[in-house]
Amino acid sequence: MRIIDEIILHCTATPEGRAVSVAEIDAWHRARGWSGIGYHRVVGINGERWAGRPVEAIGAHCEDHNVRTLGVTYAGGVAKDGRTAKDTRTAAQKEALLAELVELRDRFGIKKVSGHNEYAAKACPSFDASKEYDYLFEGRSKGFSPVLDTVLKRGSYGPQVVEWIDKLKAWRKTLAMAGATLRGDVFDHQVEMTTIVFQKARGIVADGKVGPQTLHEMELALAYKPPFQALG
Ligand SMILES: [Zn+2]
Repeated sequence: MRIIDEIILHCTATPEGRAVSVAEIDAWHRARGWSGIGYHRVVGINGERWAGRPVEAIGAHCEDHNVRTLGVTYAGGVAKDGRTAKDTRTAAQKEALLAELVELRDRFGIKKVSGHNEYAAKACPSFDASKEYDYLFEGRSKGFSPVLDTVLKRGSYGPQVVEWIDKLKAWRKTLAMAGATLRGDVFDHQVEMTTIVFQKARGIVADGKVGPQTLHEMELALAYKPPFQALG
């Protein structure tokens, strides 16, 4: 099991009062080229508590903060006009969110909860998550500083790039695929292009960058397994 030390709260950015299902979120995220729903837990407008992506799997919900976190979302987050950020949580949702946080905290030894807006220029989740829930973490959140995800990209260099190049070569071998010569420890144009070829072949976002999703997809590919799907 991966180390999980933080929960990041989100909203679905849907209008107040509108019901949202896990299947619907899964479809939105697929449309972005992801492997399905990026959140691990979903709280519906009536306080329903649903599973999204399995907690063991790294999520896709907050850039640079996916490897060691869980993404929890509630349905809502904007006013009825569909645009204005608003804390639309119903009493049932607040109750359900609290139960989620306490259960996840105890299950994984989580140290902190944050809002997506603490890591990105977004309104999500439309309320101050740290302020509201900090007391649940009994001071553990005070000394907490998140470990950022490693992302290799054009210009990166060093042993992790060497490892990635070795994996790309091994993957090409599994498909008896020819391609440009890859060597050295620099993430250059050839490495970037081969990474894109790999990402396209596996049906994931083809951005030429190697983050947790691409690494995970490579593990599967080298084990001759089909591409990861969030909902199985
Ligand atoms: Zn968010």
